[in-house]
Amino acid sequence: MALAYPPFKSCPCGSGRSYAHCCGPLHAGGRAATPEALMRSRYSAYALGNARYVLDTWHPDTRPATLDLRDGTRYLGLRVRRSAGNHVEFTAQLRLPGGERYALRENSEFVQLEGRWVYLDGVTADADPDAG
Ligand SMILES: [Zn+2]
Repeated sequence: MALAYPPFKSCPCGSGRSYAHCCGPLHAGGRAATPEALMRSRYSAYALGNARYVLDTWHPDTRPATLDLRDGTRYLGLRVRRSAGNHVEFTAQLRLPGGERYALRENSEFVQLEGRWVYLDGVTADADPDAG
């Protein structure tokens, strides 16, 4: 069950736009125009606990059977480092359930499936938390 999120608030993905003019419409069933837009909307879905959206935008070949976003991880911020072709490289600042901060750095690959962008997989690397 996704949290209600006020549409006028800044989008969790850090775009600077309101949720209603950023990831909100995608979470409501809209189509992402670019891999970066989809990546941002997936980050926002993680941040809002919207596991359904994360799974729905995951390629069926690589999608996990289940996804539980209620483990206490907090999503503190996102920075898209590079977006080119069907790859998006980003750093996500997390606070793990134990309280420590973690910077997840990933180069994600997206493909189109029946006209919609979906997440295929990604290569992760530990990043310096201060590098943001
Ligand atoms: Zn957004």
